[in-house]
Amino acid sequence: MVLVFRRAFPFAGTPFALVRDRIAPEAPPQPSTIQSMTSSLLGYDEAAALVAGYAARLSQFRPAEERVELGQSSGRVLAQPILADLDQPPFARSTRDGYACRAAEASTHKRLALAGSTRAGEAPSGPLPPGAAWEIMTGAAVPQGADAVFMLEHAEAAGGQVRLLKPRTVEPGENIVARGAQARAGDELLPAGTAITYAQVALAASCGCATLEVFRRPRVAILTTGDELVAVEASPGPGQIRNSNAAMLAAMVIAAGAEAWVLPTAADEAGALDAALAQAAEADLLLITGGVSAGKFDLVEPALARAGARFHFTGVRIQPGKPLVFGEMPRGGKASPTPVLPFFGLPGNPVSSAVTFLLFAAPVLAALAGRRELGPRFALARMGPAADRKGKPGLTRFLPARCSFTANAGGLPEVEFVPWHGSGDLGALARSNCFLVVPEQAHSLEPGAIARILLP
Ligand code: AMP
Ligand code: MG
Repeated sequence: MVLVFRRAFPFAGTPFALVRDRIAPEAPPQPSTIQSMTSSLLGYDEAAALVAGYAARLSQFRPAEERVELGQSSGRVLAQPILADLDQPPFARSTRDGYACRAAEASTHKRLALAGSTRAGEAPSGPLPPGAAWEIMTGAAVPQGADAVFMLEHAEAAGGQVRLLKPRTVEPGENIVARGAQARAGDELLPAGTAITYAQVALAASCGCATLEVFRRPRVAILTTGDELVAVEASPGPGQIRNSNAAMLAAMVIAAGAEAWVLPTAADEAGALDAALAQAAEADLLLITGGVSAGKFDLVEPALARAGARFHFTGVRIQPGKPLVFGEMPRGGKASPTPVLPFFGLPGNPVSSAVTFLLFAAPVLAALAGRRELGPRFALARMGPAADRKGKPGLTRFLPARCSFTANAGGLPEVEFVPWHGSGDLGALARSNCFLVVPEQAHSLEPGAIARILLP
């Protein structure tokens, strides 16, 4: 008799052991009480809401911090806010090459005496006298008394005088960024939890941060299971395939700003799975692939149950990825910011693993990384002219697609399905750059229709 856990976990009140003092695993479900009922599985929205709530709770466990060089900080997450050390800009700055002036005087078009000149990097040698103008370069400090800058291109300068050409006028404040307009010294410019990319690096640099306090990367154990798997270097024998999920998930985990800890592949055998799960207890998140379908050698759920797991759901009405398992298990006192080890049992087919990672594991990982924005990320696009793809009643589909983000001036980006041969089609996955969402109720997505896409 085969155990099939294909049902939503029946939780009352809060389903999250995580918010309690101690994990209190429920007794593993008995085979007699387990039924195979697709209709009782959570829909995508319910499962996504459950995971989002869980991730929000995880966010209360603050990861440890470490200090890194600014140049090494891209891809990390701020553990401390970035504060302005000075007013920004620190002086009233001209945004143009031209002439600093009093707007009211310049707008009369009278000749103004040139009283001085300031280039970027210099302090003005004095204030602007009445009835005068002051030559100024982009980025230079505006002399005291000036309230506008008119552009070089709009001026006529001769014999130590300059005038603003008709019909141009200038308004007070034009072409000047006032001191402190962007921030005042001490202002919080970015909160902790902000993911760091080039723009945050630039802002930190402007505030004098040569190093940054960031959260430690969460450690994600990746456990691939399956008797058919061989190493990437190996030539597969009859019935064997190369293990692509370990490399793929490691890449996804690293791209998410975490550390990938690839465990040895486990055979479809109870003892091997028990040993692998015991080893994984030190991780911050556990990703298992394979062995969660209803087949005779899909032994991952029973192994998780033996390890004291509590299942939040076992199966979601999505395609690919329906057998997805989400839960948490006790760590046996192993050190980590969280008292329990969250895990996902991802279906083994590579496209299923990728989609379920993006939809469900990535937000939990983002929370463990200390990020404020957890995802997943969706956008709207317009269906291209190619043939449509049918919906499947009762399942939300996430199908490999290609969106041309650059081609379409003005309108929505255009998206097409990538031809594919099911969830094992790694070529289709690699040629895609997003996933088209086909809603449960949708018959099909017609050319020209507006559709949601899941971004990687
Ligand atoms: P399973 O979820 O174990 O039933 O596996 C479903 C399909 O995914 C099977 O065709 C497996 O051979 C394939 N598969 C499972 N694990 C991996 C892996 N690590 N890399 C590539 N394919 C896999
Ligand atoms: Mg398998």
